[in-house]
Amino acid sequence: MQNSSALIQKLRETRNLTDAEFRLLLIDDSCHEILAQNADAVRREHYGTDVYLRGLIEFTNYCKNDCLYCGIRKSNRNAVRYRLTREDILECCKEGYALGFRTFVLQGGEDPYFTDDRICDIISMIHLQYSDCAITLSIGEKSYESYQAYFQAGANRYLLRHETADIAHYAKLHPAGMSCDNRKNCLFQLREIGYQVGAGMMIGAPYQTLDHLIEDLRFLQELNPQMIGIGPFLSHKDTPFRNFHNGDLESVLKLLGILRLMFPKVLLPATTALGTLHPEGRELGLQMGANVIMPNLSPMSVRKKYMLYDNKICTGDESAQQYHALAKRVESAGYQVVMARGDAKGFETK
Ligand code: SAH
Repeated sequence: MQNSSALIQKLRETRNLTDAEFRLLLIDDSCHEILAQNADAVRREHYGTDVYLRGLIEFTNYCKNDCLYCGIRKSNRNAVRYRLTREDILECCKEGYALGFRTFVLQGGEDPYFTDDRICDIISMIHLQYSDCAITLSIGEKSYESYQAYFQAGANRYLLRHETADIAHYAKLHPAGMSCDNRKNCLFQLREIGYQVGAGMMIGAPYQTLDHLIEDLRFLQELNPQMIGIGPFLSHKDTPFRNFHNGDLESVLKLLGILRLMFPKVLLPATTALGTLHPEGRELGLQMGANVIMPNLSPMSVRKKYMLYDNKICTGDESAQQYHALAKRVESAGYQVVMARGDAKGFETK
């Protein structure tokens, strides 16, 4: 049997393993150090010690979807709903820009109030006022025409986690009517239009198996996205998955390291969910190849309402306004924050 350090070496050199080899690596819980060393070395080859910051604006928690894991799902009557106005959003950008942010991420539920015209209007205004900034959207599954319209209005990047690449697993996490194929198709369309795209999955999601994770890795190889967002599944008390266990720290870190070796130039966030799972989760993520953090730039008054999972951190060092504290933490982990657009290497625009 091959040992994990030989597998990690092979993964670093060839960016790939067989399914059987991935399985061995995923079940070995003694390879943290050697994986971290390799993942960190590869991230340094391409990104040095830079950690890019993105200002995250959660602009609506209305959602027409009913994903079983998500705290802002349509059926959650306990969620207190809000949506920001165009002026609120521009105010967030103003504040973010003054703090030094050069990427704004607009994330929300799938809220029919935000028609394509309204979304395009918001994107155009941000683009006009902050032309040196990247605009990232994370607003779910739309038509090709909608994606094209947003792109023409000035959006550059799109985050749409595929959640799971396995059709049967997808069906256990989502209501009938939502489809794995459609979500994957959206990602290919976004790529074709010219967006830098981000996919990803929750680690430790209910019913997830090792084979599902390997399918996720294969799907990511096929898509070859510029960004990959992964974090632990965390349960929310008002969802059907309230009694499922949270994903575990070591599994998320393991996957981060594997992804860095498979996709050396990918933009890989140390996510809010990772920071919620463990107080040093994001620092540990950075030391495992992650190179992006997305501080919260939403108005304080709505932050606690965008509760995707229980206890989501939103007012401490992950707050955009606290970015000096965050910068210190990043430094203590051995890296430094960079206030630049931070496109994926090879995809620098402008
Ligand atoms: N409506 C957008 C944004 C969804 S929220 C979209 O469809 O893409 C962003 C991400 O949060 C989701 O893609 C999902 O992976 C993650 N998420 C939602 N609920 C979660 C939970 N309970 N635990 C961990 N991550 C969760």
